[in-house]
Amino acid sequence: MRGTVLTQRLGLLVIFCLVTLGTTGARCAETLPKYIFLFIGDGMAETHVRATECYFKDAQVQRGLAAEKVAGLTMLTLPMRGRATTFAKDNVVTDSAASATAFSSGYKTDNGVLNIDLETERKFDVMAQFVKRHGMKVGIISSAAPNHATPAGFYAHAKSRNMYPEIAMQLAASALDYVGGPPVLGAEGTDDKATDAKAREAALQNGYTVVEDRKSFDALKPGVQRIWVRSAMPLAIDGKHEIPLADHVSKAIELLAGPEGFFMMVEGAAIDWASHSNDGAAMVQELLEFDRAIARAIEFYRARPDEVLIVVTADHECGGLSLIEGRLTAPGMSKILDGQKKSRNASVDMFETFEKEKISFDEALPQMKAFFGIQYLSDEELAECRKIFKKGGGAQGQYAYGDERRISLFWSRLVSARAGLIWGSLNHTADPVPVYAVGAQAARFAGNSDNALIGRYIRDLISERKK
Ligand SMILES: [Zn+2]
Repeated sequence: MRGTVLTQRLGLLVIFCLVTLGTTGARCAETLPKYIFLFIGDGMAETHVRATECYFKDAQVQRGLAAEKVAGLTMLTLPMRGRATTFAKDNVVTDSAASATAFSSGYKTDNGVLNIDLETERKFDVMAQFVKRHGMKVGIISSAAPNHATPAGFYAHAKSRNMYPEIAMQLAASALDYVGGPPVLGAEGTDDKATDAKAREAALQNGYTVVEDRKSFDALKPGVQRIWVRSAMPLAIDGKHEIPLADHVSKAIELLAGPEGFFMMVEGAAIDWASHSNDGAAMVQELLEFDRAIARAIEFYRARPDEVLIVVTADHECGGLSLIEGRLTAPGMSKILDGQKKSRNASVDMFETFEKEKISFDEALPQMKAFFGIQYLSDEELAECRKIFKKGGGAQGQYAYGDERRISLFWSRLVSARAGLIWGSLNHTADPVPVYAVGAQAARFAGNSDNALIGRYIRDLISERKK
């Protein structure tokens, strides 16, 4: 029997080596990874990635870079490719809580729930505790608050993702080695200073070092336990971050790398928010931020390819995005998106002023054109715009993450459409998501998969290594 198992294992190893060699030309990585990265682009399907790739390349051409020097997205250089289904237990369309549960525990749950089976009340074993039990370190980094659904899915249990204050206290009571992102959210997902102060104080009591400015961040050196780095992360199109996602990744690598190894989850959260807003100009900037964070992990991988595994995927699609070839690849595509200087969310003030001061359509039109960077509207577009402006009202669904006005949606969709991005939904869809992987055992992530399977594969790698 032993011989048979060994022969089967050798056979698998040969297949694995052939796949690895055939795809990358790299030498066969037989080892199990010591450092595992799971990058989650929230709301990111292949269409979001391709649209951003077109934007990114065109932006370089527009800046005068020679064609042969134009770079593409880092995530698209990863050699192993797959796609994953994302459905929740109770719904073919998942939300971030159910999907984070799947990645974290390997089990499906209902939408809105974190790591609990509502029928049996069974609590799932979450990734952070699993990793710690195996003697490895854990990093949880997100451009959303750490008690928001995706990061929370990796350490917390909650019957509802909206139990923000409870989840914040679970974070404070946890033993994560690195937490990075904005301060925690309060009840109903609002900015609630009292909830944040309470969680911060409890974390300090529990031995966390809390860091809230760039200088202290830069001064962090290996050896410190339980680091919680907190700084605001608005939409990238609306302002630079004091500590960008990429810098969190570099710092967490610096602090956590060592003989124990680590698991690090990094989320690009606002790809989803920009997609709920059907705001292509904001979405591509979020995806680029996320890609720059992946590039930092790739640098680390290059120095120790046998020890590092990087998996990049998404928790679900958002926005029902489809792409129109002619416009998407037309020279100057990036200029259309760059013409919109701020996010659709940031247009709130302008539209509120129009409403409060009863500004007429003809008076408002030049301001709207200037904000969204569109000079010309066809007769049909102008008529539509006028109609929506006069009618007023909201269009955003129950998962709204931004301005609800139909008129601001008209404009963000118009900018997107001119660049070849057509939004079909204000919410998540059931579209499969891409999987890109590189490094030790990356071949396990190629082909057709599922978010819960990805979670299980990662757990298998950790338990196999620690046997
Ligand atoms: Zn969403």
